Parts: sequence; structure tokens; C-alpha cells
Amino acid sequence: MAALVATREAGLQRLAEFVDDAGERYARDRNTDFGDPARNAVSMLSPYLRHRLVSEEEVLTAVLERHSPRDAEKFIQEVYWRTYFKGWLEQRPQVWRDYETARDRSLAALSANKGLATAYDEAVAGTTGMDAFDAFALELVETGYLHNHSRMWFASIWIFTLRLPWELGADFFMRHLMDGDPASNTLSWRWVGGLHTRGKNYLATRDNIRRYTNGRFNSKGLNENAPPLDGPEPPRPSKLPVGENPAAVPSVLLLHDDDCLAPPFDALSGEIVDVMALDASAGRSPGERGNLAATFTREALVDSLAAHSAGGDNSPETDSERIVARIVQSGARQVVAPHAPVGPVNDALNRIAKTLQSHEISMVRPIRAYDREAWPHATKGFFAMKSVIPDMLALMARRSA
Ligand SMILES: Cc1cc2nc3c(=O)[nH]c(=O)nc-3n(C[C@H](O)[C@H](O)[C@H](O)COP(=O)(O)OP(=O)(O)OC[C@H]3O[C@@H](n4cnc5c(N)ncnc54)[C@H](O)[C@@H]3O)c2cc1C
Repeated sequence: MAALVATREAGLQRLAEFVDDAGERYARDRNTDFGDPARNAVSMLSPYLRHRLVSEEEVLTAVLERHSPRDAEKFIQEVYWRTYFKGWLEQRPQVWRDYETARDRSLAALSANKGLATAYDEAVAGTTGMDAFDAFALELVETGYLHNHSRMWFASIWIFTLRLPWELGADFFMRHLMDGDPASNTLSWRWVGGLHTRGKNYLATRDNIRRYTNGRFNSKGLNENAPPLDGPEPPRPSKLPVGENPAAVPSVLLLHDDDCLAPPFDALSGEIVDVMALDASAGRSPGERGNLAATFTREALVDSLAAHSAGGDNSPETDSERIVARIVQSGARQVVAPHAPVGPVNDALNRIAKTLQSHEISMVRPIRAYDREAWPHATKGFFAMKSVIPDMLALMARRSA
């Protein structure tokens, strides 16, 4: 697979090429991983959506210009799965914190437990002897992407056949996926394990893998009857953030790897004295990130800076302290950053905002209308969100009219 170009232009181009297939073809073939991106029926838009080089709203609008909501129902629902996971985690930040704690504990256990370390090393090197699993491990590292069905099989085999801690598998994905995302990744791994829809796990079977890989694999020795993982009930949903509107004062626009798109935020009326980009992607994992994933994020931010700043320094910044110093020097009274959901970007923004307080510089984080409208429907299972998709599409259409 040729490396994806991490620019908004390339994302829009990919959307334009895919949009005809978002209807019948997607509904029919989306579950098959032919092993060749050119033959697969999926969009491969996730790295662009994850960094918001292209927004969910833009993707849905383009699809609905070409198809009826009914014809593109399956594709639209998948985009809302992403939105659902983000809204769900946003209301349960503790699930991300617990994941980080368990991941770090499991990573530490690797140096103390030789058996665990060997099984882990074989899994991530793709040398377990299970053909499909090994091929997916290598494909992930080599391309920074995996088809959704292959992610499901891989996670299922990791958890139920290899009996490795799910957090280590989720971390392997976060290190290498170009679309590695705290919400979609953590909650999908939990979903496969039976912790999200509690008591219902996803079991990869030899027949299913053979059928949906066009007969490429014959995976023997899978545990096809494992019970779901056991874990505590997820916390009750907490209040969603409200997001603030910017004041009309000199401002720094701070883009980041959760949202490379600048406003239109309704009230961005103050003078923009500087534009910066925060790359917090190192916080996705304590381990070494795959080159493709790290490069995609960095280049997405370079592209975003080039689009939104009037020349000057187009290097994304990884160091919060340097960002603070530059903001203080700029003379701004306010920092405007698109809202970042639960995860490393949000953590970094919190740190920056706290330090800026002593300089009497505020930080406002407006939430995009698309998220504001959808997230309240992510309190329980996906069904509640699915049932209001027509209402949300209507709100979107009204906005763009
Ligand atoms: C174990 C596991 C881990 C995953 N980790 C991530 C991750 O870190 N980041 C990520 O973006 N997605 C993740 N997914 C969801 C899904 O696999 C990818 O979003 C999808 O494969 C991306 O490819 P695409 O753009 O070609 O998808 P398409 O099928 O073309 O779908 C269009 C868009 O809808 C969204 N979408 C599609 N399927 C899902 C889904 N099941 N859950 C949530 N959103 C979806 C994505 O934004 C995607 O770009 C994971 C799934 C599993 C099973």
C-alpha cells in the first residue's frame, strides 16, 4: 500500500474518489478484506477523520450529495460509530485512565514475566504460526492501517486465543495505526473483549476469516468458544463539557492532532496574533511509535499550519513549555483551541491552560456543532445514537443551507 499523503487536499481527493462507492458497494462488500486496498470497498478515510484534516460533517455531506440516506445507511452508521465512541468516552474519562494504568502495568510485567514477554514478542512480530494473525501484525507495522474486520479478528485472537492482556494489543495498535484514536481504539478493544456490550464478546472463527478474506487464510487452532472478559461495570456517564466561545481579544489559534481544521467557530472575532500546532501524539503510547503513524500526524499538522498561518514557522511543537513561552511572547490575551476529547491532546491542553493562568491568558475550547449535537446520545449503547441519526443529519443540512 502506498503511504497516505497527510494533507487536507489528499483527504478531500480520497473522499471524492470514494464517494460513488459509499452506497450499494459499501453495503455489499465492506466486510471483506481482499488484502489489497485497491480492491477493498472501504474508504480509508480514517487517518484524515482522526486528525480532522477532513471532518465527519464534510464526509457525510459529500456522501449525501450523491446518495439517499437509505442507500448510504451502512456507511453513515459507521461514521456515527466513531462519533458514538468519542461521545461515550467523553462522558467516562476514567475508562481511558484505567486503560492507561492497566497498559503500563502490563508493559512493566513484560520485563518480569518471560513467558508473557515471549508470547507478546511473537504476536507483535507476526511469528505465532497463525497465518491470518501474523499477516495482520506485519501489515499493521508496514502500512499503518488495517481493515476493520481484520482489526476485529486480530483483537479477538490476541485476547481469546493468545490470552494476552487486551491493553497490550490496544497499545500495539496505538503505536502503529495512522488513525490510532483513544476512543475508537480503546472502546473497540473493549467491545471485542465483551467489556463494552458487557457479556457479549467477538470471537474470530476460521470459517469467517476464510470467507471474508476471499479464501486467503486457513487459521487453525483458534479459540472459538471463549467466554467474555470479566471487568467492572463502566462508570455512569458524567456531564459533557460545554465548550466556551472566544472573546474578541488578541488570540493565538492553537491547532492540534485531534483537530487540524481551524474555525469557523461562531464568534472568533478577535485578532489572531499567532497560529501554532501542538503534536501530542507521543502521548498515545509510552512505547516507540511506528514511523508511518508518527509521520502522518506530524505532516497533517504541518499542512494545517501552512493553511492557517500567514507564513512563518510551520513546525508543530511537541513541547508544552515551548508553546507556553511562545504564547506569552505573542502578547495574546487568549488561546483558542478546538476542543480535544479525552486523551493525550486534552491532557496537554490542560497543562498549557494551567500554566497560562499565571500570565492571565485564558484558553477557550469551542466544541464543533457536530459533536455537540451527537455526543449527548452516546450515554448507553450505539442503538440510541443510531435512532437519532436522521435528526442529526437534518441539523447538519440546516447548518449548511
Ligand atoms: C480492535 C479495533 C481497533 C480500532 N481502532 C481504531 C482506531 O484507533 N482509530 C479509528 O479511527 N478506528 C478504529 N477502529 C474502527 C475501524 O476499524 C476503523 O475506523 C476503520 O477500519 C477505518 O477504515 P476506513 O476509514 O476505511 O473505514 P470505513 O469503513 O470506510 O468507514 C468510514 C469511517 O467510519 C468510521 N468507522 C468505521 N468503522 C468504525 C468502527 N467500527 N468504529 C468506529 N468508527 C468506525 C471511521 O472514522 C472510518 O474512517 C478499530 C476497530 C477495531 C475492531
